[in-house]
Amino acid sequence: MATTWNLEKGLQSEDTDPIKSIETFYVRPRWLFVRVETGQGIVGWGEATLEGHTDAVEGAFVDFRQRFTGWDSANIEDIYQSAYRHRFYRGGEVLMSAISGLDMALWDIKGKRLGVPVWQLLGGKVRNKCKVYGWVGGDKPSDVLEQAQARKEQGFTCVKMNAVESLGWLDSPSALDETVQRLKDVKSIGMDAGLDFHGRVHRPMARQLAKALEPYRPLFIEEPLLPGHVDELKAIHGQIGYPIALGERLFTRQDCRPYFEAGCIDIIQPDLAHAGGISETRKIAIAAEAYDIGVAPHCPLGPIAFAASLQIGFSTPNFVICEMSWKMHYNLAKPGAEERDLFTYMLNPDVFKVDGGHVSLLTGPGLGVEINEKLVREEHERFKKGEWLEWRNPIWRGEDGAVREW
Ligand SMILES: [Mg+2]
Repeated sequence: MATTWNLEKGLQSEDTDPIKSIETFYVRPRWLFVRVETGQGIVGWGEATLEGHTDAVEGAFVDFRQRFTGWDSANIEDIYQSAYRHRFYRGGEVLMSAISGLDMALWDIKGKRLGVPVWQLLGGKVRNKCKVYGWVGGDKPSDVLEQAQARKEQGFTCVKMNAVESLGWLDSPSALDETVQRLKDVKSIGMDAGLDFHGRVHRPMARQLAKALEPYRPLFIEEPLLPGHVDELKAIHGQIGYPIALGERLFTRQDCRPYFEAGCIDIIQPDLAHAGGISETRKIAIAAEAYDIGVAPHCPLGPIAFAASLQIGFSTPNFVICEMSWKMHYNLAKPGAEERDLFTYMLNPDVFKVDGGHVSLLTGPGLGVEINEKLVREEHERFKKGEWLEWRNPIWRGEDGAVREW
C-alpha cells in the first residue's frame, strides 16, 4: 500500500520563493557540497562536510529533501528550528553537519536575492579583513621550519601544526622534546604558531606538554584533552598562562555552554560545517562574547565552509583568526594524482588571496564564492563510478597493538 508522509511546508508568505531542489555532491579531497535551488532560480551553495562520515550526512539529506522541498527559502531560522527540533532527536555531528550545509546555502541564497554579502545581513562589517592561518607539518610533523618559511612567503603570519605524532596514554617524556623544538623553530622566523594536541594527548602527557611549551609562547594550544573533560581542562587552564582553544567537536551552543561556564577555554573553535552553519555559529559567538572568549572558526575544509567562516569573521566582534586549508596536507595529492585544493572548485579564487596574514573583505553577494558547478558535477559522477574513494583518516595503534587516537 502506497503511503505519503504528512509533511508541513513551514511558514509561508506572499512572495515566497520556495526551495525547489536540494542536491549533494561528493567531491575530493573529502568534502560534501550542498546545492539548493529556489523556484525563482536562485542557487545557493553550502558545505556539509563531515570528514570520513560523508555517507552518514548524505543519509540525513534523504530526509531533508523530503521535508524542506517547497519551504520558503527566505525563512532560514524557521527551517533551522524545524530541522533541529521537529525530529525529537537532535544535535550530534551527523545531523548538525547536514543542517550546517543547508543553512549556509540558504544564507547564500538570501544574500544573492538581496544583492549583498552575508556579513551585511549579520549587522554589517566590524573589520575590513580576517586574520587566517595555514598548516605546517601534516599528520606526522617534521620539517616544519622549511614549511613555515614557505607559509611566510605565501603571506601568512601564523601557522598551526600537530603537537605530536601518535602518543601513548603514558609515553616517554622525551617524546615531547621535538614538539618544543618545533615551536622554537617556527618562532625563530618571526611567525606565531598554534599547536593542535588533536585530542591525541591524554591527561598524563597533556599536563607536562602544556607546561613545557609555555616558555616559548604558543599562540594557543588546541584540544589539549578530548572534548568532555571540562574539569580536567580547567585544571590545565589554571596551570598555564596562554590560551586554550577547543570546539571543532562541539555542535550547537548547548554543547559549548559547559566550557564557557567553567572558564576552561579562551578561544572557541566552531566548525561552520559541523556546529550548525552560519545561524548557530553566530549564536555561539555571541554567547562566547559574554564570557570574553574569542572565536576562531575551525576550517580544514573547502571553499564554501571557508567563505561562511569569513562571513562570521567580518561581522563578529570577538572573531580572532580563521583556519585556511590552502595547501593543507589533506588537500595535497600524491605524486601523479589529481590535486583538489581549496581553490580547485572556485571560479573566483582571487577573493581568498592572503596578504599580510589576512584575507580581505568578501564583497560578492551571498557567501561571495563562485562555484564551478560543471566540475563539481563531474567529480560527483566520477565518485559514483568508483573512480575515487571517500576519504578516511589514518588508523593508529601503539606498539602493543592498542588503539590510539588519530
Ligand atoms: Mg584540531
